[in-house]
Amino acid sequence: MSPFKQSISNWGNYPLTESLVYQGKERPASGPYIARGMGRCYGDSASQAQIWSSRANRCMLDFDSNTGVLTAEAGLTLDEILQTFVPRAWFLPVTPGTKFVSLGGAFASDIHGKNHHGNGCFSDHVLWIDLENAEGEVLRCSREKNQELFELTAGGMGLTGIILRVALQLHPIETAYIKQRSIRCRNLQETLEQILAHQHWTHSVAWIDCLAPGKAMGRSILLLGEHAKANELPEKYQNQALKPHSTQQKNFPFFLPGFALNSFSVKTFNFLYYHKHLPKQKEQLVHYEPFFYPLDAIGHWNRIYGKRGFTQYQFVLPPDQVDGLIKIIETIRAHGMGSFLTVLKLFGPQKENYLRFPKEGFTLAMDFPLSPKLEGFLSQLDALVLKHGGRVYLTKDLRMPPEMLMASYPQAEQFRQKIKEMDSKATFQSLQSQRLDLHL
Ligand SMILES: Cc1cc2nc3c(=O)[nH]c(=O)nc-3n(C[C@H](O)[C@H](O)[C@H](O)COP(=O)(O)OP(=O)(O)OC[C@H]3O[C@@H](n4cnc5c(N)ncnc54)[C@H](O)[C@@H]3O)c2cc1C
Repeated sequence: MSPFKQSISNWGNYPLTESLVYQGKERPASGPYIARGMGRCYGDSASQAQIWSSRANRCMLDFDSNTGVLTAEAGLTLDEILQTFVPRAWFLPVTPGTKFVSLGGAFASDIHGKNHHGNGCFSDHVLWIDLENAEGEVLRCSREKNQELFELTAGGMGLTGIILRVALQLHPIETAYIKQRSIRCRNLQETLEQILAHQHWTHSVAWIDCLAPGKAMGRSILLLGEHAKANELPEKYQNQALKPHSTQQKNFPFFLPGFALNSFSVKTFNFLYYHKHLPKQKEQLVHYEPFFYPLDAIGHWNRIYGKRGFTQYQFVLPPDQVDGLIKIIETIRAHGMGSFLTVLKLFGPQKENYLRFPKEGFTLAMDFPLSPKLEGFLSQLDALVLKHGGRVYLTKDLRMPPEMLMASYPQAEQFRQKIKEMDSKATFQSLQSQRLDLHL
């Protein structure tokens, strides 16, 4: 397969780069280049003038039906895994809010799901990876063999090499359905109390209304979920207990003009969402698709933010820094910077590991359309995040300054040194890693 030119942007639609794309066994004659999966990172972590795309490498190589270990090429998507394995009573151990991500991208960002408080990150469920380094050598890396490389690569944003294959432990299920409880919370304090009181639930996520004023600040709908057992399914679902998700998708047809998503429409959306769930608490049985992937139903929903693009600002603060969380939400409100989607989750204890994002505490993710005043506003949020001992997620980032990375990721400097020792020519670079001075 010969390389081809392509205009490429990731999920935030910015930046747009003219890239030379390599696939399969083809590699650029020299760096810098970066691996790319499904481009579901929001900013510039998978952007570069030369890209190796994993889209042509998506074969399933082996599956052990006794242990549930799947071995596959790194371009295989979570969507493809669910289509194949839900009917065989296996599910993903950790999944993000979209199933359109590749195994390689999931490992390189060390993604988390709604179950981090009990089940950790994606890499915690990976037995080994095959990694191709700058010399073209393929190294099997696990917790036993080439351990340091395994750890550097988990959350290492593609900067250690190309992940070629992944061995993933799947999770056994009895049905494709989720027992869902939704709880309406009046404000931030109640939201946090309810999240902590329901930590024994496997999956937990709160959709927050960031613009609600005064005592209602941080009101939310908390969604909790457990995989339903076979004997918990009503008669009507019994013959489709292991039905995978539909492959049909409606596409958002065009980019919305910038003014369509002003703070008024965000306020209205949040208000409606909040009041749709009238009872204080509601129990339902839902398919895994709307529970885990409510946004996947509409393809290209990122066009809602207009052609200029958007970014997602996701940070984590330690559990005792609730006042920091309050200050950040107050700052968003004061600036009228509504986020169409604001999601709050709980992270459980997590060992520090180079550039891996999660650490114990609360994580909040918000989308903001790009605009000239956005950088000033996000710098204010950066200052609050730093002051309260937090950090920002690299796979969502588009503009973090290098000082912020070094101040908030205690092993960032070690990471920088290690990748330099491994590859003095710095073959693997993204626009993000260059912006963050990771190759000095
Ligand atoms: C709607 C939506 C919801 C999301 N929800 C969550 C969530 O709940 N939790 C969460 O953690 N993330 C979430 N994400 C982010 C997403 O899970 C990550 O950005 C993920 O890495 C994307 O995978 P990808 O295959 O698209 O990788 P890309 O976006 O293509 O690349 C992401 C990074 O992985 C590297 N990479 C990709 N493939 C390889 C490879 N084969 N070898 C080496 N490096 C590689 C790239 O260099 C880049 O640094 C969400 C994204 C979207 C769009």
